[in-house]
Amino acid sequence: MHLKSVCVLGNGQLGRMLKQAGEPLGIALFPVGVDQDPTMIPYENSVITAEIERWADTPFTQILAKHPHFINRDIFPLIADRLTQKELLDELNLPTAKWHLLTNEWADHFANLGDLLIVKRRTGGYDGRGQWRITKNEIREIPAEIYQQAIVEEAVPFDSEISLVGARSHDGKTVFYPLTNNLQQEGILKMSVVLPAENLAMQQKAEMMLSKIMDRLQYVGVMAMECFVVGDELIINELAPRVHNSGHWTQNGASISQFELHLRAILDLPMVKPVVTSPSVMVNLIGTPLNYSWLTNPLVHLHWYDKEVRAGRKVGHLNLTHHDRALLIEALDSLTLPTEQYQTAIAWAKTKL
Ligand code: ATP
Ligand code: MG
Repeated sequence: MHLKSVCVLGNGQLGRMLKQAGEPLGIALFPVGVDQDPTMIPYENSVITAEIERWADTPFTQILAKHPHFINRDIFPLIADRLTQKELLDELNLPTAKWHLLTNEWADHFANLGDLLIVKRRTGGYDGRGQWRITKNEIREIPAEIYQQAIVEEAVPFDSEISLVGARSHDGKTVFYPLTNNLQQEGILKMSVVLPAENLAMQQKAEMMLSKIMDRLQYVGVMAMECFVVGDELIINELAPRVHNSGHWTQNGASISQFELHLRAILDLPMVKPVVTSPSVMVNLIGTPLNYSWLTNPLVHLHWYDKEVRAGRKVGHLNLTHHDRALLIEALDSLTLPTEQYQTAIAWAKTKL
């Protein structure tokens, strides 16, 4: 008997999209935020998952966090802390940006890691928050309490950024989507472009790396690995033990979305490799008001999160998929988006198509 209800720690857009994916499969999802009433949820007979690495701490989330059916329960704290995440990658001999625990020995950091350093909070950072770029003249801008609570990395002179989204089942089977090209701007994902078979050697290399991580952790579900590309090399930036923004294109560009794939994995339903036959583009809507004129192009799928629109906040995304790249470009050109925010990203997407 498969359990058919799932509680999600966190109630942001990822939880919402997991819920949407569960519906056609007859799977009930219960995203849990700060003010969830436990009596409304059959949590004792549910599988527990999470959509964020650090969820709101309430009496009810504490119960869920200790639940025997919380899949990957002991893996979350390990990956949520950048220090233990980096230690894991080092132990597996997987390449990452060179790093140290942040101490006030700045001279050592500069000597070992170079002239531009990236300081990242160990926990709680996202979308570029909790990060500082430091050159020798700017050290004073770091809050004092952050020593020991952050890591410091070398700045990697990357050619581009990609991610791999994959999943592992209870019996250890792994499946992967094609590598996704990602454009980050101001620490936040702006756009993704996927071609079904862009670089098979790199695909294979990335799959080996993520398999090694998931196998080592005995992980179950969807995991994302963000990488820097330097020549032919892949350097792991970070891991996400959950569905990931760079996998949103799979909602419309793959036979099985990352959200459904995660549910299949954690509920022990059939895990098969999602089929991807066409290029896809995902445009993140960041601080952009809802505009139904986007729908005038027939390729555009709108995913709106129903959140208050604020500058710098992810409020939705657009997915476009078609085998004819010229039509994708035409669709991108049809979008009414703030020029100053989107023109370089759209130009970037066109170069990838
Ligand atoms: P997100 O939640 O959007 O994934 P985040 O806040 O978790 O972001 P990171 O992924 O670590 O943070 O960093 C955000 C972006 O900053 C990266 O995608 C990359 O563009 C840049 N960056 C981070 N670390 C480095 C590094 N060591 N060298 C060069 N660029 C970096
Ligand atoms: Mg990231």
